[in-house]
Formats: sequence, C-alpha cells, structure tokens
Amino acid sequence: MARVYEKAYFGKEIIPLGEANLSIASSAVLYGLSVYTVFPVSKTEKGLAAFRLPEHYKRLCDSARIIGMDSFAISYEEFLAAVKELVKANAIDGDVFVRASVHIAAQLPGTRSRNLETTLSIFIYDATPIIPQDGARVKTSVWRRVPDFSIPSRAKVNGAYVNSVLARQDAIDSGYDDCIFLDFTGHVCELSAANIFIVRDGKLITPHTASDILEGINRRTILEIARAQGMTVHERSVDLTELYVADEVFACGTSSFIAPIKEVDKRVVNGGTIGPITAKFRTLHADILHGKAPGFEGLLTPLA
Ligand code: PMP
Repeated sequence: MARVYEKAYFGKEIIPLGEANLSIASSAVLYGLSVYTVFPVSKTEKGLAAFRLPEHYKRLCDSARIIGMDSFAISYEEFLAAVKELVKANAIDGDVFVRASVHIAAQLPGTRSRNLETTLSIFIYDATPIIPQDGARVKTSVWRRVPDFSIPSRAKVNGAYVNSVLARQDAIDSGYDDCIFLDFTGHVCELSAANIFIVRDGKLITPHTASDILEGINRRTILEIARAQGMTVHERSVDLTELYVADEVFACGTSSFIAPIKEVDKRVVNGGTIGPITAKFRTLHADILHGKAPGFEGLLTPLA
C-alpha cells in the first residue's frame, strides 16, 4: 500500500493526518456522501507541479453539484493555496498523488444532500500505480457499471466506488489485475478506476462520455493530443469483442498512468507486448507530467 504523508488539510487548516477525522454519524461515513478527485504532483526541473489542476478543481465542483452538495463553495484560488500549503508542510520532493475530497460532515441529516455542512479534506500519498505498467491482464466483470440514471459515474462520489470495488475484487479473485466494466446493454465502459482506449487500423477509439464512464482528465488529454496530431479518433459505443480483435488496448488515468493491456478475457493483445501508439502516449504523458514535453507546459500548475 502506498505511503500516506503525515500532514493533511482538513477544515481549512493543516493538521496531523491522524486528527483529520469525520464523525461516524456523518453522511460521509453513513452513505459515502463525499466527492473527490486525485491528481498527480510531479517533480520538474522548475520545481513541483500539478497536472491539470483547474480541470480537477472543476470536476470536483461538478461532482458536488450533481450530488446536490451545494454548500461547497471554495474558490479555485483557495483550493490552489491549500494544495501549495500542504505540499510544503509535507516537504514533498518527489512524485505523489493528491486526493482532495468534499464530505458531507453533518451528523444524521438522513438521506439527503442539500443545505448541509461540507468539509474539504486533502491528503498526499506516494504515486504508486494501481495496475501493472508492463501489461495488465483484465477480465470482463460479472458486475455491470452503475448507469447514469442510478448513480452517475460522471460524479466522482465515494459511495459509488462500491461498484468498482466489487468488480476489481472479482477480477483479483479470478487471478486478473483489473476488470472491464460493461454497461447494462453490454457495451464497454471502463476499468474499475481508469478509462480505456483501443487502437484499430491506426484509429484511436474510446467509449463516448454518455457511456457511464468517469470523464477522465487523462482521457481528455489523450483525445486532445491525438486530434492535434491528426490521428483519427472515435468517441463511440464500443463492443466487448472489439477489445478481442484490437491492435492495442490501453488504460489511462491518474493512478494507472498509461498502462498497456496485454490480455482481455484470455485473448492476448499485440502478442502480449506494448504497441507503438500506447508506447508513444505513455512516454509523452510521463514527459508532460515532468515538464519535459515542449508545448505542454500550460497543463502544469507550479506549486512553489
Ligand atoms: N474512471 C474511473 C472510474 C476512475 O476512478 C478514474 C480515476 N480517477 C478514471 C476513470 C480516470 O480519471 P482521471 O484520468 O481523471 O484520473
């Protein structure tokens, strides 16, 4: 398990992680009523930098809005200041992940979300990937992705991750690294905590944003880069069997980086090795995070 750093931001101050606690009677604990985001902070030549921080902040606000957590009203400037303060307090000097959450801290309000006290928490942990980086083996989950009309995947809400836990544990129990989630019609959604891309005949294909997926910030980055480079890109419904015949399959997300998938339901992809397009995106993505990709510096927010 990744190491968690000892200082946390909680209730507008930096305190020891062990003291940053929510009540067992809070809606956050009782119903999973927290929304969150995780973003990478990486070491660049010019100091520490966060990847696409405004987009992470916006998605956090959007998640709160979808769930109806309307008392969350921290500005981007306050959010950035909190992240900077926390990074400094923990003397961060390498690549880490930062998890920022908004919790409904009110005690026993019942099953509702509006007009209730919220608390922002932030903590930092080592940037350890959640799936193998040299070729993950995945299986189709026996569990289906929660549809937008039940619990929206677009909102990154803690309680909804029970769905991901069921699916990933099923995959691990069966000897795989992660799962492929299908929606209730049988189309491909994503992995337990990463988006999915396939390459067929040089074209890049990924499930569209109305496919019960989280609108991943790395997914968006890959689409932007691919389009800028003149690649043919399709955001559309994806059949499971397209994964079986794809030239390349890869996962992308903050905690998985760009990870080649080498096996889907026992069908070996690209002879079990990383394909050229996956390799290109993986290298570029790592370079962007570390400020080594000319032209992409605008995606980084300096934290010094
Ligand atoms: N889908 C799910 C379900 C996730 O939890 C994540 C990780 N946040 C992603 C996709 C990838 O999103 P991002 O690129 O913003 O990390």
